[in-house]
Amino acid sequence: MTDIRTLTYEELEQFLFSIQEKKFRAKQIWTWLWQRGVGSFEEMTDLSLALRSKLAEHFAFARTVIEQEVQSRDKTAKFALKLHDGLLIEGVLIPAGDRVTACVSSQVGCPLHCAFCATGTMGFTRNLHYAEIVDEYVLMNVRAKELYGNNITNIVFMGMGEPLLNFANVMTAIDKLTDPKGFGLSPTRITLSTAGVIKGIKALADRNFPCGLAISLHSADPAVREILMPVTEHNTLHDLQAALLYYHQKTGQRITFEYVLLSKVNDSLQAAEKLARYCRPFPVKINIIEYNETEDGIYHRSYPNQREEFIQYLKDHNMVVNVRQSKGQDIAAACGQLVKR
Ligand code: SAH
Repeated sequence: MTDIRTLTYEELEQFLFSIQEKKFRAKQIWTWLWQRGVGSFEEMTDLSLALRSKLAEHFAFARTVIEQEVQSRDKTAKFALKLHDGLLIEGVLIPAGDRVTACVSSQVGCPLHCAFCATGTMGFTRNLHYAEIVDEYVLMNVRAKELYGNNITNIVFMGMGEPLLNFANVMTAIDKLTDPKGFGLSPTRITLSTAGVIKGIKALADRNFPCGLAISLHSADPAVREILMPVTEHNTLHDLQAALLYYHQKTGQRITFEYVLLSKVNDSLQAAEKLARYCRPFPVKINIIEYNETEDGIYHRSYPNQREEFIQYLKDHNMVVNVRQSKGQDIAAACGQLVKR
């Protein structure tokens, strides 16, 4: 049976017409699906019981559910979400002041095999449908209100998966989340993070992507980055830089680079110098991320003095640098640890 949420508005209208219902019912149903985010036909209380059961006869409601929830001492909450076919993905809520950031997944697993990332070790199972991405938001937003007394204010695509390898679904999910007649989130509060899929970055530029874009760079040295991130082989640093320049020229936006400091791998002053040089063509912000060591990992976080030197070098060269403290470590909710337990 078709999941009702895979229908277009026109298809929904046509279906209603075919069962002798008024067209405007489509608008009501659409509001329940894409503005209120209900999980069943029973909840559509302004429809007649007859219509609700007709809908249930013809369509499935492939709803995602919260399978498990773990809370961290620092109030970070991690969720295992079960998809209609039993597969699990993970989402995280990170409260900070008035903000609640939701970290969402875009795929079940990930095909990119970054050497330092725990998700990379689990391989790739399938893409998420846009409705499943919206489910992550809807389900975690209910919990955000209960846990923190606040709605989700920001969304980052930094959970499992590479969003630019599930381009169409991620774009549709963002449309649903930002539609003023939908969930109405501001695009400026959504950030898409990519390992550097060039084709996708160009496509974002061409559609004048209104959200934030973050690139997981982690090294500006081709040989080092190829070891850390095999995606570099077909998406070279050189071509990535050109794509980002194109992106900046098209959208006027600043580029955010994520940089996880790994001891003796990418944290030397020479590495900082290469990074500074790489950033020259466009305005950037660098997010320095504390590495969350994975159990079987061969990588380690940088020593504090090395880290300070690295950051100081960038600051001395007039770069905008943010340092991100790791959160939710006690529950393995930190980046790259989402499959650990
Ligand atoms: N595929 C996308 C989004 C998922 S990863 C991307 O690569 O951007 C989200 C971020 O977490 C990336 O910057 C990734 O490099 C980082 N990350 C992965 N494993 C990590 C770890 N163990 N510690 C800290 N950051 C990690």
